[in-house]
Amino acid sequence: MIDELHLKLGSLIKALEVFLVLKDAKPASRIISEEDVYLYLKSLGLCVEKADFKIKRLDKGQYSNKGEKAKEGRSLFYVSKNPELAAKAKNLEANGDDYNLGLALGYPECCCKFFESNKSEFKEKDNDLLPATLSASDGFMFPFYNNIAMRYFDYTLLHHFPCSFNCEKSNELAKKYLSVIEKNSSRHAALIRKNLLGAAIHTPIGSYALANPKLIGDEIFYDSVKPNEDNNLARLLSNLGSIKVMDKNTIKINNELLKNVNVMLFF
Ligand SMILES: [Zn+2]
Repeated sequence: MIDELHLKLGSLIKALEVFLVLKDAKPASRIISEEDVYLYLKSLGLCVEKADFKIKRLDKGQYSNKGEKAKEGRSLFYVSKNPELAAKAKNLEANGDDYNLGLALGYPECCCKFFESNKSEFKEKDNDLLPATLSASDGFMFPFYNNIAMRYFDYTLLHHFPCSFNCEKSNELAKKYLSVIEKNSSRHAALIRKNLLGAAIHTPIGSYALANPKLIGDEIFYDSVKPNEDNNLARLLSNLGSIKVMDKNTIKINNELLKNVNVMLFF
């Protein structure tokens, strides 16, 4: 079932969003799609509402994180098993009520408040609140359930920005989602777990997933690097095989300090 949704919606994250609504694990979901998937979503037995505006994409890559309201672009759908909830989500977003939209989509209240107070940064930083989430977190080691750094590679259990990487409510939700996925497809659950258990470096010029990380002292050793944009930093990280973590926003590579990065180790 997840495979078919993935194929039709073009992304695993979107497939999981719809899957979790179908399995009653999420009350409603918000799906952005290049294609008009209205009829397809209806055919799954869901109540579907389509936004009156479109979303213009502001980034490249497998999974889009950045977009803005526009006349032309991708379509936005709200799905739920409850027709009133799908319509409510549509109206809340049309009215710019992000706080209540988040609650309608089942996001934790603490994270909806966090989004509301970081709204201006969300718009300024091309819809990217990961740095704000990290800045609200202690240290750089976090439970893998809250790993939203892999969203740039089409893997995440959460569809909101947690108020911190230690957010308990988000952790509980992600755990619940993974167990629902596991019941239907242990293959997908294993794939998601494997990808979320890792280290990540997130910078304004790209995101880098470090596979099989091992922390020894203040150094993270890793087997390979998956970049979402191929650039000099990606090649350097690939050649080195390890980085020194000075703090969550500073790493040392080749004896040079790289500041204003976001580094996270998920276990
Ligand atoms: Zn929270």
